[in-house]
Amino acid sequence: MDLKTWVRPNIWNLKPYSSARSEFKGEASVFLDANENPYNAPYNRYPDPLQWAVKEKISQLKGVPAEQIFLGVGSDEPIDLIYRAFCEPGIDNVVAIDPTYGMYQVCADINNVEYRKVSLDNEFNVDADAVLNAIDTHTKAVFVCSPNNPTGNSLNRAAVERILKSFAGVVVVDEAYIDFSSQPTFLHLLNEYANLVVLQTFSKAWGSAGIRLGMAFASREIIEIFNKIKYPYNINKLTQEHALSMLEKAGQVKEWVTILLQERVRLASELSRLSIVKKVYPSDANFLLVKVDDASAVYRYLVENGIIVRNRNNITLCMGCLRITVGTPEENRLLIEAMTKL
Ligand code: PMP
Repeated sequence: MDLKTWVRPNIWNLKPYSSARSEFKGEASVFLDANENPYNAPYNRYPDPLQWAVKEKISQLKGVPAEQIFLGVGSDEPIDLIYRAFCEPGIDNVVAIDPTYGMYQVCADINNVEYRKVSLDNEFNVDADAVLNAIDTHTKAVFVCSPNNPTGNSLNRAAVERILKSFAGVVVVDEAYIDFSSQPTFLHLLNEYANLVVLQTFSKAWGSAGIRLGMAFASREIIEIFNKIKYPYNINKLTQEHALSMLEKAGQVKEWVTILLQERVRLASELSRLSIVKKVYPSDANFLLVKVDDASAVYRYLVENGIIVRNRNNITLCMGCLRITVGTPEENRLLIEAMTKL
């Protein structure tokens, strides 16, 4: 991948802001360089702008060098950075599967970038030819999501690899739900495809949606571009500290995932027994897409009973569907109890 031909010229030539904490590296005891208040420890100091301690831990866990990791304010930040790095507003476009996670389109709209949707087939699989046909000379990125939100399935791997091989621009594989999946991650293919960007997040299996921390894994060169354009101290110290403590608890996270996978099976089987449920789609994620008789009516009924699910009735290929997150055994019991009374 000749990155220079894909990055917007203003970004390629950008001289990034140089923060006090990135200019001085090393040991010192008196910091008079960043106009901080010397009192009020422990949060009077700016955080590490490149979050090396967190990245080192993630690197060990994932087997990806720390220089190939970008940390963002949720995975929503790297999604936005992909547009800002690669897409000239009003000129360039991206191609994405449909239906999928809504922020790809919102970020396209904010950045005035054309968003081309390619429908999944009836089994929610991606048609690589249809994606490749939607690409033209102004296509700068392709977004796929596996396991996909809201359909819950993992995409066919061979099709995603075909896209990676046939399109020279950035291919984003969003793996927000990978920890719940029976399929392997695409991280192992980073060395094979210089145009691959894999997104993961602390918001799902890691139980840390509140700290807003997302990960992008890519070539060193792509990560350098993201680092150039991000806000200087995008990840605050509280978030970095919490992430470090969670990374020490990988065993706990595994236990949660085990429980949630068991609950996913139980919830799917109990839901499919209800007469109002037409179909429970197979899921590789921590939620179920469920087709019911009248999705909006069921949604309203559940709200009245204090249970909030996501109504996906108006989404492509999801007519009549609710998206239901797998909760604790007790939460799932309350959901089934309420739905049984319908
Ligand atoms: N990608 C997908 C597929 C998602 O479903 C979500 C959240 N719903 C995100 C990314 C955003 O995650 P984060 O909280 O890391 O911004």
